[in-house]
Amino acid sequence: MDFNLSETHLKWQKIAREFATEVIAPEALERDRIPLAKDRIPWDWIKLADKAGIRTLGVPKTFGGAEESILTMCIVGEELAAADLGFAVIMDQCWKMAHLFKDAMTAEQQQKFIPSFVSNNQATTAIGITEPDIGSDHQGYYDGADIGMKTTAVKDGDSYILNGTKRYISNGCMASLYFITARLDSSKPLSESGAVFIVPSDTPGFRADFFHEKSSQRLATNGCFHLENCRIPASNIMLGEGKLIELRSQYMPGSKAEAAATVLGVGRAAYDYAMNYAKERKQGGKFIIEHQAVSLMLAKMAMLLDGARLQIYKAAWLADNGDKDARVQGLIAKVQASEAAFEVCRLATEILGGAGIMFEHPVEKYLRDAASFLHSDGTNQVCSLRITNALSGMNSAALYGF
Ligand SMILES: Cc1cc2nc3c(=O)[nH]c(=O)nc-3n(C[C@H](O)[C@H](O)[C@H](O)COP(=O)(O)OP(=O)(O)OC[C@H]3O[C@@H](n4cnc5c(N)ncnc54)[C@H](O)[C@@H]3O)c2cc1C
Repeated sequence: MDFNLSETHLKWQKIAREFATEVIAPEALERDRIPLAKDRIPWDWIKLADKAGIRTLGVPKTFGGAEESILTMCIVGEELAAADLGFAVIMDQCWKMAHLFKDAMTAEQQQKFIPSFVSNNQATTAIGITEPDIGSDHQGYYDGADIGMKTTAVKDGDSYILNGTKRYISNGCMASLYFITARLDSSKPLSESGAVFIVPSDTPGFRADFFHEKSSQRLATNGCFHLENCRIPASNIMLGEGKLIELRSQYMPGSKAEAAATVLGVGRAAYDYAMNYAKERKQGGKFIIEHQAVSLMLAKMAMLLDGARLQIYKAAWLADNGDKDARVQGLIAKVQASEAAFEVCRLATEILGGAGIMFEHPVEKYLRDAASFLHSDGTNQVCSLRITNALSGMNSAALYGF
């Protein structure tokens, strides 16, 4: 075993750390407090991230991207999120979809969609699965025919007509390219009837509705949009009819690890801030770090973060190496990292005392941000059920991978 990062990993870590420190960190707190979601979208940072190669980190080299590994995405995601989780999520949504660019698109689809994504330095991507009546159920724990996905796709000549509503979508209503799930036959379970379509935002019938206002990841949007008789060329279907589960299980192996890495970055920022604060704040005649009560909390925080990072790196390594255990390890990493980061942020607010919730300090923002990943990318309960299912061997292979 070798715990060293490669030269490439270290190069990207440096690029991301500099970007986070110089571009994001100085303004993150101020931008987080802008009242309306539409005014918070960091179009300028997206442009700068493009220049630094971060936006296209996962895009195949033949199309001008860096085609980097999942481990690199985790390393870069942690760095960006240490400055602002919302911005890290905007980028991660582009990396997640870049896996689909690379491995799941036909050559024709690649030519049709990748060059325009690469050449527009403010373009982002999104995946639209969640709807008012389907949330946890699309995470693969349930596959009954009564599942609540209401978005439909009806074949009409050489097109599909899509109708439905998607909500909570990261980069929703700001992205230029969407991967949308729909059902071809509402009487059948998703494993038979689910499909994924590539939908550019300028497709007639695609209607952006509103941004959800929220307490976490405030620089990233969560959009609600509608598909109203949205005609999509049949060639925009991914992998073919009924391939939703296959797409999610086989072609996005790093997605949980990447998500976990971003929330880890928030925990790290909270730990660093609390550590510095404890070294500077005096009570009881000495720096508070010299009180064992505080020192014990800092040690616990360091251990939680280190443990989570090891789980993330393992998940990323397994995914990069095409190992069959990558998916369950990704779920483990996501649950562990989100719970570790949330606990670290909570402890940071305790170390800061009253300052922990005051707007002069970033710790209340870290706590708000960390809360999002307890349920984003699958609630930790449903992710945990899937872990047990996988480890016990009690579920079907198809559902496990979903
Ligand atoms: C910040 C953020 C970003 C998101 N980004 C996207 C995105 O880009 N694209 C997208 O499609 N979606 C996105 N989502 C949606 C996300 O996937 C769902 O919110 C999540 O899967 C949970 O679904 P839900 O909110 O409907 O909760 P529900 O499914 O209603 O869950 C409510 C509660 O019931 C529990 N529960 C549900 N089912 C079971 C079960 N079978 N067994 C035990 N307990 C259960 C849950 O654990 C939870 O505690 C995002 C959500 C957030 C918060």
